[in-house]
Amino acid sequence: MSTLDTTLDDAPVRDAAFYERFRQELHDFMSTHCPADLRVKVRSNQKLGREEMSRWQQILSAHGWGAPSWPKAHGGTGWDLQQRYLFEEVSAQLDCPPLYHHGLGHIGPVIMHFGTEEQKARYLPRIVDGSEWWCQGYSEPGAGSDLASLKTAAVRDGDDYVLNGQKIWTSHAQEADVMYTLVRTSQEARKQSGITLLVVPLNTPGIQVRPIHTIDQWHHVNEVFLNDVRVPVANRLGVEGEGWKCAKFLLDRERLSPATVPRLARQLDQVAEMIQARIREQGLSPSLQAALQRLYQAEASAMGAREMLLSAIQEEMNGTLAASKSSALKLHCSELSQEISSLAYDLTAQEYGPRLLPQPPAEDGSDDRDAGRQLVHTYLFYRSRTIAGGTSEVQKNVIARDLFGA
Ligand SMILES: Cc1cc2nc3c(=O)[nH]c(=O)nc-3n(C[C@H](O)[C@H](O)[C@H](O)COP(=O)(O)OP(=O)(O)OC[C@H]3O[C@@H](n4cnc5c(N)ncnc54)[C@H](O)[C@@H]3O)c2cc1C
Repeated sequence: MSTLDTTLDDAPVRDAAFYERFRQELHDFMSTHCPADLRVKVRSNQKLGREEMSRWQQILSAHGWGAPSWPKAHGGTGWDLQQRYLFEEVSAQLDCPPLYHHGLGHIGPVIMHFGTEEQKARYLPRIVDGSEWWCQGYSEPGAGSDLASLKTAAVRDGDDYVLNGQKIWTSHAQEADVMYTLVRTSQEARKQSGITLLVVPLNTPGIQVRPIHTIDQWHHVNEVFLNDVRVPVANRLGVEGEGWKCAKFLLDRERLSPATVPRLARQLDQVAEMIQARIREQGLSPSLQAALQRLYQAEASAMGAREMLLSAIQEEMNGTLAASKSSALKLHCSELSQEISSLAYDLTAQEYGPRLLPQPPAEDGSDDRDAGRQLVHTYLFYRSRTIAGGTSEVQKNVIARDLFGA
């Protein structure tokens, strides 16, 4: 367990020296306990699977750091804003894996807020220790941006709901144990009414998960077919017909991922190294000057994102977070992530020309030679950043509605 008094309850004096000691503690622990093979993969921008992310989650959990953003009452650290940000920052700087967001960042807070005591006791500890893996079954063919149009039906039959329908773009469904999903339990005039949030174990008979092959060659998203799937009523989160409230609560937090900004800063460091290496080899050519200018602009954007994120986390902790702020942050960070990987792509394109399209990453994590080359691979994956979690156009709509009542 952590040796320092780093929780809100335990440490009244929080000066710069306290946070410096805390940063050092994070650094010491992560640099000695994060497995080397995972750090190699993260450093070279390769994707991690469940086994790898769970391994790191279990190490953190055994140390008492399994849920950095959760209150102590639910197995979290109780850390304050600055500690939470420092955790993400040190973790990114040391190339430790990101935490798996579907459990810790998305459904965990919903269960804390809307779940029964039994549901909290059943689900939360397994998110913290990494033994249960979640995925999100919101989107359907025909219900993405307009999520409230979803059609997957749940009909009450005794103590069960019987589900029929289809979900799509379900990230990690192929390796998850449970899916939290929005279903239609009644046909109300207002389509947001009559939606309910259910917890569906993915080994329930009647569920079929099919992969969707994407341009980046990573198996990430899936279709999930539900055919007469029986789910106990006890698996309902919140009140029947009020799932939209839970969905919105979750989406506001989904758009506010504290992990994103420090990871972007780390990738910017890698792009800076790529540019410097080329300047050393070729001198400062006009195209490298242009790349440097883009780098500085991206660095300024990342600094702005950091400030915006810190104030958003503070508001979230105070319960005053406006939807427009988390949407603005999502919009800004997803566009910035595309610019960073696009810069890496352009630098590499100058050398490889039409032969550029990258090979898939080495599965065993052995390819640590050129993180920049893998950033090119990331470029393809990041095309989805302005779509997943709500498109950029939808974020702009939320901002306009929130600020101007449009
Ligand atoms: C990599 C990836 C991972 C994903 N993971 C998940 C997941 O785990 N779980 C899950 O449930 N979903 C997931 N999604 C789905 C994602 O949330 C949806 O793709 C997204 O909300 C957009 O919905 P859509 O694809 O149906 O596009 P549509 O809603 O059909 O949009 C098509 C286009 O129209 C525009 N548009 C639509 N409505 C408006 C409007 N009112 N004003 C202006 N423009 C508009 C959109 O911006 C877009 O450009 C994922 C998607 C991707 C790409």
